[in-house]
Amino acid sequence: MNAKPNIKDLSFKELAVFLTEHGHPIYRAKQIRQWLFQKRAILFAEMSNLSRGLREELDENFTIGRLQALRRAESRDGTVKFLFGLAGGASIESVLIPESRRLTLCVSTQAGCGFGCAFCATAVLGLTRNLMASEIVDQVLEASRTLNADRRITHVVLMGMGEPLANYDQTLSALQIMTDGEWGVGISPRRITVSTVGLVPQIQKLMAETRVNLAISLHAPSDELRGKLMPVNRKYSLSQLLDCCRALPIPRRKRITFEYVLLRAVNDSEQHARQLAKLLQGIRSKVNVIPFNPHPGTAYFRPTDAEVTRFQKVLYDAGVQVNVRRPRGDDIQAACGQLQGEEHERAPAIPISAAVS
Ligand code: SAH
Repeated sequence: MNAKPNIKDLSFKELAVFLTEHGHPIYRAKQIRQWLFQKRAILFAEMSNLSRGLREELDENFTIGRLQALRRAESRDGTVKFLFGLAGGASIESVLIPESRRLTLCVSTQAGCGFGCAFCATAVLGLTRNLMASEIVDQVLEASRTLNADRRITHVVLMGMGEPLANYDQTLSALQIMTDGEWGVGISPRRITVSTVGLVPQIQKLMAETRVNLAISLHAPSDELRGKLMPVNRKYSLSQLLDCCRALPIPRRKRITFEYVLLRAVNDSEQHARQLAKLLQGIRSKVNVIPFNPHPGTAYFRPTDAEVTRFQKVLYDAGVQVNVRRPRGDDIQAACGQLQGEEHERAPAIPISAAVS
Protein backbone atom coordinates (compact mmCIF):
# COMPACT_ATOMS: atom_id res chain seq x y z
CA MET A 1 0.00 0.00 0.00
CA ASN A 2 1.23 3.50 -0.81
CA ALA A 3 2.03 5.86 2.02
CA LYS A 4 -0.69 8.42 2.62
CA PRO A 5 -0.08 11.74 0.86
CA ASN A 6 0.85 14.85 2.82
CA ILE A 7 -2.24 17.04 2.95
CA LYS A 8 -0.06 20.17 2.84
CA ASP A 9 0.89 19.28 -0.74
CA LEU A 10 -2.68 19.26 -2.04
CA SER A 11 -3.72 22.22 -4.17
CA PHE A 12 -6.93 24.00 -3.29
CA LYS A 13 -8.57 22.25 -6.23
CA GLU A 14 -7.42 18.79 -5.14
CA LEU A 15 -8.68 19.43 -1.64
CA ALA A 16 -12.00 20.65 -3.03
CA VAL A 17 -12.36 17.48 -5.12
CA PHE A 18 -11.74 15.31 -2.05
CA LEU A 19 -14.31 17.25 -0.03
CA THR A 20 -16.95 17.07 -2.75
CA GLU A 21 -16.41 13.35 -3.24
CA HIS A 22 -16.89 12.81 0.48
CA GLY A 23 -19.99 14.97 0.66
CA HIS A 24 -18.53 18.02 2.41
CA PRO A 25 -18.86 21.67 1.41
CA ILE A 26 -15.91 23.22 -0.39
CA TYR A 27 -15.49 26.03 2.16
CA ARG A 28 -13.99 23.41 4.47
CA ALA A 29 -10.84 23.60 2.30
CA LYS A 30 -10.12 27.07 3.62
CA GLN A 31 -10.68 25.97 7.21
CA ILE A 32 -8.36 23.01 6.75
CA ARG A 33 -5.66 25.25 5.34
CA GLN A 34 -6.09 27.69 8.20
CA TRP A 35 -5.45 24.82 10.58
CA LEU A 36 -2.38 23.73 8.65
CA PHE A 37 -0.70 27.04 7.90
CA GLN A 38 -2.05 29.54 10.43
CA LYS A 39 -2.77 27.47 13.51
CA ARG A 40 0.02 25.05 12.61
CA ALA A 41 -1.92 21.95 13.59
CA ILE A 42 0.02 18.71 13.68
CA LEU A 43 -2.99 16.43 14.19
CA PHE A 44 -6.35 16.31 12.39
CA ALA A 45 -7.92 15.85 15.83
CA GLU A 46 -7.03 19.48 16.61
CA MET A 47 -9.26 20.80 13.82
CA SER A 48 -12.14 21.53 16.16
CA ASN A 49 -14.41 23.39 13.75
CA LEU A 50 -14.60 20.36 11.41
CA SER A 51 -17.04 17.54 12.05
CA ARG A 52 -15.63 14.47 13.69
CA GLY A 53 -16.51 12.48 10.55
CA LEU A 54 -14.46 14.76 8.32
CA ARG A 55 -11.53 14.74 10.73
CA GLU A 56 -11.56 10.94 10.62
CA GLU A 57 -11.80 10.83 6.83
CA LEU A 58 -8.86 13.20 6.57
CA ASP A 59 -6.89 11.08 8.98
CA GLU A 60 -7.64 7.92 6.98
CA ASN A 61 -6.48 9.48 3.72
CA PHE A 62 -3.68 11.91 4.53
CA THR A 63 -0.85 12.71 6.86
CA ILE A 64 0.20 16.12 8.11
CA GLY A 65 3.84 16.09 7.04
CA ARG A 66 6.53 17.80 9.09
CA LEU A 67 10.22 18.37 8.76
CA GLN A 68 12.35 16.43 11.17
CA ALA A 69 14.16 18.91 13.39
CA LEU A 70 17.61 17.39 13.68
CA ARG A 71 19.74 20.12 15.14
CA ARG A 72 19.83 23.76 16.12
CA ALA A 73 22.98 25.85 16.51
CA GLU A 74 23.17 29.40 17.77
CA SER A 75 25.86 31.87 16.78
CA ARG A 76 27.52 34.45 19.02
CA ASP A 77 25.66 37.12 17.04
CA GLY A 78 22.23 35.58 17.69
CA THR A 79 21.87 33.91 14.29
CA VAL A 80 20.33 30.45 14.56
CA LYS A 81 20.89 27.62 12.10
CA PHE A 82 18.46 24.72 11.81
CA LEU A 83 19.18 21.36 10.27
CA PHE A 84 16.03 19.66 9.04
CA GLY A 85 15.69 16.08 7.84
CA LEU A 86 13.51 15.37 4.81
CA ALA A 87 11.63 12.22 3.91
CA GLY A 88 14.09 10.07 1.97
CA GLY A 89 17.20 10.91 3.98
CA ALA A 90 18.44 14.24 2.63
CA SER A 91 18.69 17.28 4.86
CA ILE A 92 18.49 21.04 4.44
CA GLU A 93 19.40 24.07 6.48
CA SER A 94 17.53 27.26 7.33
CA VAL A 95 18.97 30.31 9.06
CA LEU A 96 17.14 32.70 11.37
CA ILE A 97 18.70 36.16 11.42
CA PRO A 98 17.64 38.72 14.04
CA GLU A 99 18.40 42.28 12.98
CA SER A 100 17.00 45.20 14.99
CA ARG A 101 13.24 44.91 14.55
CA ARG A 102 13.41 42.37 11.75
CA LEU A 103 13.50 38.64 12.10
CA THR A 104 14.47 37.11 8.79
CA LEU A 105 14.39 33.43 7.91
CA CYS A 106 16.62 32.27 5.08
CA VAL A 107 15.05 29.13 3.58
CA SER A 108 16.24 26.40 1.23
CA THR A 109 14.39 25.41 -1.93
CA GLN A 110 16.42 22.36 -2.96
CA ALA A 111 18.46 19.73 -1.12
CA GLY A 112 21.89 20.51 -2.53
CA CYS A 113 22.25 22.50 -5.73
CA GLY A 114 23.14 21.65 -9.31
CA PHE A 115 24.47 25.01 -10.51
CA GLY A 116 28.09 24.53 -9.51
CA CYS A 117 29.05 28.11 -8.57
CA ALA A 118 32.79 27.90 -7.94
CA PHE A 119 32.81 29.64 -4.54
CA CYS A 120 29.72 28.06 -2.90
CA ALA A 121 29.71 25.29 -0.29
CA THR A 122 26.29 23.99 -1.32
CA ALA A 123 27.54 23.46 -4.89
CA VAL A 124 29.96 20.81 -3.66
CA LEU A 125 26.99 18.59 -2.78
CA GLY A 126 25.39 18.58 -6.20
CA LEU A 127 21.63 18.38 -6.40
CA THR A 128 19.88 15.72 -4.33
CA ARG A 129 16.31 16.77 -5.02
CA ASN A 130 13.80 19.58 -5.29
CA LEU A 131 11.81 20.44 -2.19
CA MET A 132 8.04 20.22 -2.20
CA ALA A 133 6.19 23.48 -1.55
CA SER A 134 5.22 22.16 1.87
CA GLU A 135 8.86 21.52 2.74
CA ILE A 136 9.72 25.11 1.84
CA VAL A 137 6.85 26.51 3.93
CA ASP A 138 7.49 24.08 6.80
CA GLN A 139 10.88 25.70 7.39
CA VAL A 140 8.99 28.87 8.34
CA LEU A 141 6.49 26.96 10.48
CA GLU A 142 9.12 24.90 12.30
CA ALA A 143 11.44 27.86 12.93
CA SER A 144 8.44 29.83 14.24
CA ARG A 145 7.65 27.10 16.74
CA THR A 146 10.96 27.72 18.48
CA LEU A 147 10.23 31.42 19.10
CA ASN A 148 8.72 33.01 22.18
CA ALA A 149 5.08 33.97 21.77
CA ASP A 150 5.91 37.67 21.30
CA ARG A 151 8.29 37.10 18.38
CA ARG A 152 7.47 36.27 14.80
CA ILE A 153 9.31 35.92 11.55
CA THR A 154 8.89 39.22 9.68
CA HIS A 155 10.88 38.54 6.50
CA VAL A 156 11.69 35.50 4.38
CA VAL A 157 14.54 35.22 1.91
CA LEU A 158 14.83 32.29 -0.51
CA MET A 159 18.62 32.34 -0.26
CA GLY A 160 19.40 29.09 1.49
CA MET A 161 20.43 25.89 -0.24
CA GLY A 162 19.43 25.47 -3.86
CA GLU A 163 18.15 27.52 -6.76
CA PRO A 164 14.52 28.56 -6.21
CA LEU A 165 13.79 29.17 -9.88
CA ALA A 166 15.05 25.72 -10.90
CA ASN A 167 12.23 24.41 -8.69
CA TYR A 168 9.79 26.94 -10.07
CA ASP A 169 6.35 25.38 -9.52
CA GLN A 170 6.96 24.31 -5.94
CA THR A 171 8.57 27.66 -5.13
CA LEU A 172 5.57 29.49 -6.56
CA SER A 173 3.12 27.37 -4.53
CA ALA A 174 5.23 27.96 -1.44
CA LEU A 175 5.12 31.71 -2.06
CA GLN A 176 1.34 31.54 -2.40
CA ILE A 177 1.02 29.72 0.91
CA MET A 178 3.44 32.10 2.64
CA THR A 179 1.71 35.24 1.38
CA ASP A 180 -2.00 34.41 1.57
CA GLY A 181 -3.57 36.37 4.39
CA GLU A 182 -6.85 34.44 4.56
CA TRP A 183 -5.59 30.90 5.04
CA GLY A 184 -1.81 31.08 4.59
CA VAL A 185 1.12 32.21 6.69
CA GLY A 186 0.28 35.84 5.91
CA ILE A 187 3.69 37.36 5.20
CA SER A 188 3.51 40.27 2.76
CA PRO A 189 5.26 39.62 -0.58
CA ARG A 190 7.09 42.91 -0.01
CA ARG A 191 8.88 41.15 2.84
CA ILE A 192 9.93 38.16 0.77
CA THR A 193 12.98 38.03 -1.50
CA VAL A 194 13.79 35.37 -4.07
CA SER A 195 17.46 35.06 -5.01
CA THR A 196 18.48 33.47 -8.30
CA VAL A 197 21.59 32.62 -10.28
CA GLY A 198 19.86 34.34 -13.20
CA LEU A 199 17.46 32.01 -15.02
CA VAL A 200 15.97 34.49 -17.48
CA PRO A 201 12.62 32.89 -18.48
CA GLN A 202 11.80 31.99 -14.88
CA ILE A 203 12.67 35.51 -13.68
CA GLN A 204 10.18 36.91 -16.17
CA LYS A 205 7.51 34.47 -15.02
CA LEU A 206 8.13 35.12 -11.35
CA MET A 207 7.86 38.88 -11.77
CA ALA A 208 4.63 38.49 -13.75
CA GLU A 209 3.07 36.08 -11.27
CA THR A 210 4.12 37.46 -7.86
CA ARG A 211 5.01 40.69 -6.11
CA VAL A 212 8.05 39.44 -4.25
CA ASN A 213 11.44 41.14 -4.34
CA LEU A 214 14.05 39.90 -6.76
CA ALA A 215 17.74 39.41 -6.03
CA ILE A 216 20.13 38.29 -8.75
CA SER A 217 23.53 36.76 -8.09
CA LEU A 218 25.81 38.64 -10.45
CA HIS A 219 29.29 38.26 -8.94
CA ALA A 220 31.24 39.45 -12.00
CA PRO A 221 31.00 42.29 -14.50
CA SER A 222 32.15 40.37 -17.60
CA ASP A 223 31.00 37.18 -19.30
CA GLU A 224 34.50 35.82 -19.19
CA LEU A 225 34.84 36.04 -15.43
CA ARG A 226 31.19 35.26 -14.67
CA GLY A 227 31.41 32.16 -16.85
CA LYS A 228 34.33 30.92 -14.76
CA LEU A 229 32.59 31.54 -11.45
CA MET A 230 29.05 30.61 -12.47
CA PRO A 231 28.58 27.95 -15.16
CA VAL A 232 24.99 29.19 -15.68
CA ASN A 233 26.43 32.22 -17.46
CA ARG A 234 27.10 29.98 -20.47
CA LYS A 235 23.35 29.50 -20.78
CA TYR A 236 22.20 33.05 -19.98
CA SER A 237 24.87 35.65 -20.70
CA LEU A 238 25.18 38.94 -18.86
CA SER A 239 23.59 40.87 -21.71
CA GLN A 240 20.58 38.51 -21.82
CA LEU A 241 20.23 38.77 -18.05
CA LEU A 242 20.52 42.54 -17.88
CA ASP A 243 18.25 43.10 -20.90
CA CYS A 244 15.68 40.98 -19.08
CA CYS A 245 16.12 43.14 -15.96
CA ARG A 246 15.66 46.37 -17.93
CA ALA A 247 12.35 45.10 -19.28
CA LEU A 248 10.90 43.82 -16.00
CA PRO A 249 7.76 45.45 -14.64
CA ILE A 250 9.36 46.65 -11.40
CA PRO A 251 7.08 48.95 -9.38
CA ARG A 252 8.33 52.51 -9.04
CA ARG A 253 9.51 52.34 -5.46
CA LYS A 254 11.28 49.03 -5.87
CA ARG A 255 14.75 48.06 -7.00
CA ILE A 256 16.33 44.85 -8.20
CA THR A 257 19.06 43.69 -5.85
CA PHE A 258 22.28 42.47 -7.42
CA GLU A 259 24.40 40.30 -5.17
CA TYR A 260 28.14 40.42 -5.61
CA VAL A 261 30.28 38.03 -3.59
CA LEU A 262 33.65 39.68 -3.20
CA LEU A 263 36.50 37.24 -3.82
CA ARG A 264 39.98 38.45 -3.07
CA ALA A 265 42.09 39.13 -6.19
CA VAL A 266 39.39 37.57 -8.39
CA ASN A 267 36.56 40.10 -8.83
CA ASP A 268 37.39 42.82 -6.29
CA SER A 269 39.49 45.41 -8.14
CA GLU A 270 38.54 49.04 -8.79
CA GLN A 271 38.38 48.15 -12.45
CA HIS A 272 35.77 45.47 -11.69
CA ALA A 273 33.76 47.97 -9.67
CA ARG A 274 33.82 50.52 -12.50
CA GLN A 275 32.77 47.87 -15.00
CA LEU A 276 29.94 46.81 -12.70
CA ALA A 277 28.67 50.37 -12.28
CA LYS A 278 28.62 50.78 -16.05
CA LEU A 279 26.78 47.52 -16.56
CA LEU A 280 23.99 48.52 -14.18
CA GLN A 281 23.37 51.92 -15.73
CA GLY A 282 19.70 52.39 -16.48
CA ILE A 283 18.53 49.58 -14.19
CA ARG A 284 16.79 50.63 -10.96
CA SER A 285 18.97 48.52 -8.74
CA LYS A 286 21.06 48.23 -5.64
CA VAL A 287 24.16 46.15 -5.10
CA ASN A 288 24.64 43.91 -2.09
CA VAL A 289 28.32 43.26 -1.70
CA ILE A 290 28.91 40.01 0.22
CA PRO A 291 32.52 39.57 1.35
CA PHE A 292 33.28 35.89 0.67
CA ASN A 293 32.50 33.48 3.50
CA PRO A 294 35.12 30.75 3.55
CA HIS A 295 34.24 27.08 3.93
CA PRO A 296 36.31 23.89 4.15
CA GLY A 297 38.05 23.01 0.90
CA THR A 298 37.58 26.34 -0.86
CA ALA A 299 40.36 27.97 -2.87
CA TYR A 300 38.98 31.50 -2.45
CA PHE A 301 39.69 34.19 0.13
CA ARG A 302 37.77 37.04 1.71
CA PRO A 303 39.22 40.46 0.85
CA THR A 304 40.45 42.71 3.66
CA ASP A 305 38.08 45.35 5.06
CA ALA A 306 40.08 48.02 3.24
CA GLU A 307 39.65 46.19 -0.07
CA VAL A 308 35.91 45.84 0.53
CA THR A 309 35.64 49.55 1.29
CA ARG A 310 37.63 50.44 -1.82
CA PHE A 311 35.27 48.41 -4.00
CA GLN A 312 32.23 49.90 -2.30
CA LYS A 313 33.54 53.46 -2.74
CA VAL A 314 34.01 53.14 -6.49
CA LEU A 315 30.40 51.97 -6.83
CA TYR A 316 29.13 54.68 -4.51
CA ASP A 317 31.03 57.40 -6.37
CA ALA A 318 29.55 56.14 -9.63
CA GLY A 319 26.05 56.67 -8.20
CA VAL A 320 25.26 53.03 -7.46
CA GLN A 321 23.26 52.29 -4.31
CA VAL A 322 25.46 49.82 -2.46
CA ASN A 323 25.37 47.90 0.83
CA VAL A 324 28.00 45.64 2.28
CA ARG A 325 26.48 42.63 3.96
CA ARG A 326 28.11 41.75 7.26
CA PRO A 327 28.61 38.03 7.66
CA ARG A 328 26.02 36.64 10.06
CA GLY A 329 26.52 33.38 11.89
CA ASP A 330 29.83 32.56 10.24
CA ASP A 331 31.09 30.93 13.46
CA ILE A 332 28.46 28.21 12.97
CA GLN A 333 28.82 27.99 9.17
CA ALA A 334 25.46 29.73 8.72
CA ALA A 335 26.56 32.64 6.53
CA CYS A 336 25.80 33.01 2.81
CA GLY A 337 27.22 30.13 0.84
CA GLN A 338 28.18 28.03 3.85
CA LEU A 339 25.13 25.77 4.00
CA GLN A 340 25.80 22.12 3.35
CA GLY A 341 23.34 20.15 5.39
CA GLU A 342 24.37 16.73 6.48
CA GLU A 343 23.40 13.23 5.71
CA HIS A 344 20.37 12.31 7.68
CA GLU A 345 21.78 9.01 8.88
CA ARG A 346 24.90 10.55 10.31
CA ALA A 347 23.12 13.28 12.23
CA PRO A 348 22.10 12.38 15.76
CA ALA A 349 18.40 13.05 16.04
CA ILE A 350 18.42 15.56 18.89
CA PRO A 351 14.99 17.10 19.31
CA ILE A 352 15.25 20.85 18.84
CA SER A 353 14.05 21.61 22.35
CA ALA A 354 16.90 19.58 23.84
CA ALA A 355 19.63 20.62 21.41
CA VAL A 356 22.47 22.70 22.75
CA SER A 357 23.98 25.44 20.68
N1 SAH B 1 20.76 29.92 -5.83
C1 SAH B 1 20.41 31.24 -5.38
C2 SAH B 1 20.24 31.39 -3.89
C3 SAH B 1 21.22 30.72 -2.96
S1 SAH B 1 22.75 31.44 -2.56
C4 SAH B 1 21.42 32.24 -5.87
O1 SAH B 1 22.46 31.82 -6.40
O2 SAH B 1 21.18 33.43 -5.80
C5 SAH B 1 22.55 32.98 -1.78
C6 SAH B 1 23.70 33.94 -2.11
O3 SAH B 1 24.93 33.58 -1.45
C7 SAH B 1 24.03 33.97 -3.59
O4 SAH B 1 24.23 35.28 -4.02
C8 SAH B 1 25.33 33.19 -3.62
O5 SAH B 1 26.09 33.42 -4.77
C9 SAH B 1 26.01 33.67 -2.37
N2 SAH B 1 27.14 32.85 -1.97
C10 SAH B 1 27.39 31.57 -2.29
N3 SAH B 1 28.52 31.14 -1.71
C11 SAH B 1 29.00 32.17 -0.99
C12 SAH B 1 30.12 32.34 -0.12
N4 SAH B 1 30.93 31.34 0.12
N5 SAH B 1 30.28 33.54 0.46
C13 SAH B 1 29.41 34.55 0.26
N6 SAH B 1 28.32 34.45 -0.52
C14 SAH B 1 28.12 33.27 -1.15
